[in-house]
Amino acid sequence: MFVFMKKYRKNILCLISCSALLLFSSCSTQFSRFQKQEVSLAAYTPKVVLPAQNIPLPATDFSFCMPKAALEPIVDPRIEITQTFSPREINHLVAHDPALFKSGNKHTINLDLIADEDFAFPLPGAKVISPYGGKRRGHTGVDIKTVPNDTILSAFDGVVRMSKPYAAYGNVIVVRHYNGLETVYSHNSKNFVKSGDIVKAGQPIGLTGRTGRTTTAHLHFETRINGQHFNPNIIFNLKERCLQRKRIVCTKTSGGSIAVRYVS
Ligand SMILES: [Zn+2]
Repeated sequence: MFVFMKKYRKNILCLISCSALLLFSSCSTQFSRFQKQEVSLAAYTPKVVLPAQNIPLPATDFSFCMPKAALEPIVDPRIEITQTFSPREINHLVAHDPALFKSGNKHTINLDLIADEDFAFPLPGAKVISPYGGKRRGHTGVDIKTVPNDTILSAFDGVVRMSKPYAAYGNVIVVRHYNGLETVYSHNSKNFVKSGDIVKAGQPIGLTGRTGRTTTAHLHFETRINGQHFNPNIIFNLKERCLQRKRIVCTKTSGGSIAVRYVS
């Protein structure tokens, strides 16, 4: 073996040298590749994709996705009213509500916050034949007319306080409403409701007639607060037959009467 190595020493050395050279050459190539990769990563600039401009909006109306409650006005909050009536409240047109003005001498009603379905003109299509006050001065309501036996509607939600024949008023209905007001419907040929009935705005409650002191079939309509009448035109635009979209304040004076005014 030794003799063999001695004989071919030069060849063996040559082979080892070549192998070492090849190995170095291979490592050198790998390192060079790695270096190139490093350089290319460092030089990499990310592409920024800008959002497209002027995208056309979809034709579909997505408004139904919006919360409905937030878009609609808040309905006028109800106040505490007396809904169980004394014999006096059932039998007399003028009656105080013990629950009103309990916590102060002012009561505000924001008519603008009352939803369309929460009020009704009491005699649709009617014309005014005699205004509140007017030449007669003592006229406690407004006379509105269509045809005999036309349907009378409750102006707001509420509870029927009185329903009976009552002197010159003839067949009369008084409804106490959750906003603190009372409405009166008089000279009716027929009353559909009785004391204690809960009624909705727009519900038929009677028919127009000429009972009591009157010469023609019509509706004598009154608005009252704490028993005191005031001009119904403050609540309803009688010409347009719609609700006045205003805020009213009812102030109890030291004498006990109620002043009803618009406030800004
Ligand atoms: Zn009248």
